[in-house]
Amino acid sequence: MAGRCKVCGAPAYARLEYANLQLCRGDFVRFFERRVERTVERYGMFERGSEVAVALSGGKNSVALLHSLWKLRERLGIELVAITIDLGIAGHSDRYVPLAKRVCEKLGVACRVVNLEGEYGVAVDELRGLRRPICSLCGVVKRYVLNREARELGAHVLATGHNLDDFLVTLLQAYIRGDLRTLAKLKPYLPPEGKLVARAKPLVETPERDVALYVEALGLEHVGWKCPYSRGATSFEYKRVLDLLEGEHPSIKFQMLRSFPEKVQPLIKVEVPNLTPCSRCSEPSSSPLCQFCRIREEVAKLRGRGLKAGAPPSLEGSG
Ligand code: SF4
Ligand code: ZN
Repeated sequence: MAGRCKVCGAPAYARLEYANLQLCRGDFVRFFERRVERTVERYGMFERGSEVAVALSGGKNSVALLHSLWKLRERLGIELVAITIDLGIAGHSDRYVPLAKRVCEKLGVACRVVNLEGEYGVAVDELRGLRRPICSLCGVVKRYVLNREARELGAHVLATGHNLDDFLVTLLQAYIRGDLRTLAKLKPYLPPEGKLVARAKPLVETPERDVALYVEALGLEHVGWKCPYSRGATSFEYKRVLDLLEGEHPSIKFQMLRSFPEKVQPLIKVEVPNLTPCSRCSEPSSSPLCQFCRIREEVAKLRGRGLKAGAPPSLEGSG
């Protein structure tokens, strides 16, 4: 890349249009980690002495999150543990689970691997037989398991790798659906509530492109292929649209991130149902039977009828 680092004058590694800034590899890495630290402080995500559980899928976001928090752990005064869910996706889980374990081993971070089928009685491959889109069901399953596991590990906060682009995609999708409940709850940090562990998104002020540059700068091993069910996911289209906008108006993503909680969210008035224990599993739920238990019930019915989902979709190539 032509140009020089604004900090030290070395050849530039990254050009950040939104900040009109070019940085060499080392200064970019420091810039990235300082921003994670500032985000954590701005939203009061962790207290000193917090045990932070990082949801680790092995994808670039969660690897960058774990790595940056690991480097910041002493400054922030936190302890780290990782949670990886073996979702039971043929040809996918058996590749990312060992990778996630290797990432943790390298950093000396304890990794709790949850076997969804063995421990919770359901595998994501089985959800193809149900009527809702598989990614939405998988999302319910992951939220349920991560919260429960984080709590059982004694973690104070569950940190996820959602970046700025992910946050804005959720915002746009909820807006288009008129999903006021999601809009009201969409925050970089949610405090604990009963059996719900606090949830934090320390990469919420980090654009997706910067995450890719960070893992590349440090040569961090991460999943370089896509989940077979991600094909056709509308989030990719939303991200393309956001990138188009950003190309014409650098920093528009940051403007959206700031204006939404300051100006729009306070005006959203929506009744949030009280959470009560699920009648089956006792986890917090807004209905008598929680969504996870309902999914399990439907899978059991499918099994009872001897129905199996079709052949798994083929994996996309690496890259
Ligand atoms: Fe789950 Fe869909 Fe993500 Fe695959 S792409 S891990 S099915 S949410
Ligand atoms: Zn339940």
